[in-house]
Amino acid sequence: MEAFYTLQGEGVFMGHAAYFIRLGGCDVGCFWCDVKESWDKEAHPKQSISQIVKEASSFPARLVVITGGEPLMHDLEELTTALKKEGFSVHIETSGAHPLSGTLDWITLSPKRFKKPLPAIYEKAHELKMVVYTLSDLEWAQKEAKKVSDSCKLLIQPEWSKSSKNLPILIEFVKENPRWQVSLQTHKFMDIP
Ligand code: SF4
Repeated sequence: MEAFYTLQGEGVFMGHAAYFIRLGGCDVGCFWCDVKESWDKEAHPKQSISQIVKEASSFPARLVVITGGEPLMHDLEELTTALKKEGFSVHIETSGAHPLSGTLDWITLSPKRFKKPLPAIYEKAHELKMVVYTLSDLEWAQKEAKKVSDSCKLLIQPEWSKSSKNLPILIEFVKENPRWQVSLQTHKFMDIP
């Protein structure tokens, strides 16, 4: 769908320069999704892997974030192999609703109620990022956290439109449950993509 050089705004790698590759296509259907234009896989022009890697390599950072849409609707083997060959650390942000593919250095699993993750991804996730829209999502987040490995980072993030209402509650939640940390969509505060 698009690719751009920016800072990672969310999660454990927040603030790091990264080249984002946003793949078209998503069948998860979150009603609060802020990239609904990504949903239709056919609505975006196709690009060769060599073109994508060449463009990524023109920037100084050697960190790539593959996102979407739902990037695992695509087989990522060839793309990630080509990126690794150029020395990139390859991260992915996924709902986990499709089978894992590719050679990945960091997996951010962000489960969605609308189409739940496949069981196999939980133990592979390095970071569990739970987006909180309603307060019942907090209870669900704790259930999801039981499925990931002990080393997986736990992040709780207010959905942007509910941020001012829910953030104080998330702050108290983390104070009570210190294995968790708050993640904010800092790219929106910085006004960068
Ligand atoms: Fe949007 Fe991501 Fe949900 Fe797909 S999984 S609908 S891209 S928020």
